[in-house]
Amino acid sequence: MQKSRKRFYTTHCLAATVKITLNNFTQGPKIKAKPLVAAFFFFCLYALAGSAIAQETKPLTQGSDSIRAVALTFDDGPHKWHTPDLLETLREWNIKASFFVVGRCVAENPLLLQKIHKEGHCIANHSWSHPDMTSLSREEQAEEIKFCNQVVEALTGQRPRFFRPPGGRWNPDVVETAADQDLLAVLWTVNGYDVPPKEPGQLAELILRRVTLGAIVLLHDGGAVTLEALPIIIERLLSEGYIFVTLDQMFPPRITPVPFVRAGASVP
Ligand SMILES: [Zn+2]
Repeated sequence: MQKSRKRFYTTHCLAATVKITLNNFTQGPKIKAKPLVAAFFFFCLYALAGSAIAQETKPLTQGSDSIRAVALTFDDGPHKWHTPDLLETLREWNIKASFFVVGRCVAENPLLLQKIHKEGHCIANHSWSHPDMTSLSREEQAEEIKFCNQVVEALTGQRPRFFRPPGGRWNPDVVETAADQDLLAVLWTVNGYDVPPKEPGQLAELILRRVTLGAIVLLHDGGAVTLEALPIIIERLLSEGYIFVTLDQMFPPRITPVPFVRAGASVP
């Protein structure tokens, strides 16, 4: 999507700039100033469009820092043994989180996915088979994302809005492929696994030291260390006044404006 838009800006703005400049030279010195101003304007427009598009091709890593909120995210599930325990802990604390699920694991544990959904958590796409997305062609990337979307939608009736590339390996093609399927690429602010934690207290401390306002915390759905660290993390952050939000709450969908209809006019 972004590449085609960038091509559009490139083609049209540069073509207009060249045309205006040529006109300037063919029409004589009297009207030099206005076309040069216009040419400058088009160059600026192109530069602005280009920089805006460049920002769109980066994954999100943090929510707003104006609210004392944090989003817990769990990758790689659903897992037959660990997910039920994880859901129970979240239920005990009345906390909603976001689950980046792997399509293949969803197919193996469909009831668990429905349970995650029914308990009000956000379900997000973590590919079909957890490959290194940067090593795939655009078509293969699209299939990985599409198959995961399809299995989630078939089981929950809802299409995911977020995509996290496995292992956090991404390039602009990966982000664009996700965007083509209306998914926002999301990484994280805090990764507790930079150094593999050996025990729950160590993982909890690694995370708590780095949490800031609007942080997205990377955890995994599948591990005793994570399960035991979770209550420590939740308790401390609650005591510090944080609220826990899902990614849907952190990045709400844009509101589509309702068309204005004059009084007495018929709606088309
Ligand atoms: Zn993963």
